[in-house]
Amino acid sequence: MHLTTEVLERPEHAQAPAHAAATVRERAPAPSRSIEVPAAQPQIWFDGKFISTDAPEAPLTTHAMHYGTAVFEGIRSYATADGGAAVFRLPEHLERMRKGADMFGIDFDVERAGRAVLDTLRANGHRDAYIRPLTWMGTGSIGLDVDPLSQHLMVATMAKVVHLGGARTRLTVSPWKRNPATSLPPLKLSGAYVNSILAKREAKQRGFDEALFTDDKGYVVECTGANVFMVKNGEVTSVEHRDALPGITRDTMIALSGAASREVTLHELLDADEVFVCGTAAEACAIDVLDRRVFGDNPVTRELSALYAQVVRGQDRGYAHWLTAV
Ligand code: PMP
Repeated sequence: MHLTTEVLERPEHAQAPAHAAATVRERAPAPSRSIEVPAAQPQIWFDGKFISTDAPEAPLTTHAMHYGTAVFEGIRSYATADGGAAVFRLPEHLERMRKGADMFGIDFDVERAGRAVLDTLRANGHRDAYIRPLTWMGTGSIGLDVDPLSQHLMVATMAKVVHLGGARTRLTVSPWKRNPATSLPPLKLSGAYVNSILAKREAKQRGFDEALFTDDKGYVVECTGANVFMVKNGEVTSVEHRDALPGITRDTMIALSGAASREVTLHELLDADEVFVCGTAAEACAIDVLDRRVFGDNPVTRELSALYAQVVRGQDRGYAHWLTAV
């Protein structure tokens, strides 16, 4: 099957998406022309060239595979009414990624990564997509000193989003504690996500969709891949915690709702009228149950969710500055 509806112009600096990964590396950049992309075979941008999704590129001695020495982002693009697409808050995502890369001494070029994101969306003909850039420490040593290691960058785009999926979510307090910021900075360092994975796995084993991290003092931190909000008497509050990732969707929701940002106890959360969690992949997800507490209707969450959907699709020109056209 070929994508015929979304045939795009390739920019000069993008290479042809190859049908065979083995040949793509030898090719010079092709002149700009219309391209047809096989829908079943998306291309991945890898260190400046396009390769097929299933091409084996990382050696088994890759440092990141052994120690989690990598930094990723989760970004989204949305189809816009003019028939195009736009990436939501791309500079903010790449700036957070740069901060993470700095932790490992990875030389991360924000401009180059931004071009790679747009080129990959164009090459794959993706408009509504989840975008996954990853920068990682490669080979050169298997020790813990990262200085001798090679550094890499890839960008994948996917038509399907994997986190929570917009449905009302069944949440449970995790027995696991969030990585404290004094041990691991709240950035998207790959190894740190083992903490989220353990919590998610444990929650699912007990029949829930998602885990809520709280701290030793009973304050809410965040979920495994989303920040937490509550609504009480029509007032929206965004949970603030030093161990939580400073989410870009959280920042967006605060701007859209005028929410106050402060520390919130689990007790307060259980007493709220509505609770929702938000993130790039999750967007805004209403919480259905939090352990034994069952929440009722969620009109404020619904309204905010609808506003968010308009903003990310460029239907509210007041927020056009958050969109990067593909
Ligand atoms: N917390 C964690 C742990 C996350 O992984 C994410 C997803 N990136 C979020 C919160 C939400 O962040 P954002 O809105 O920037 O996607």
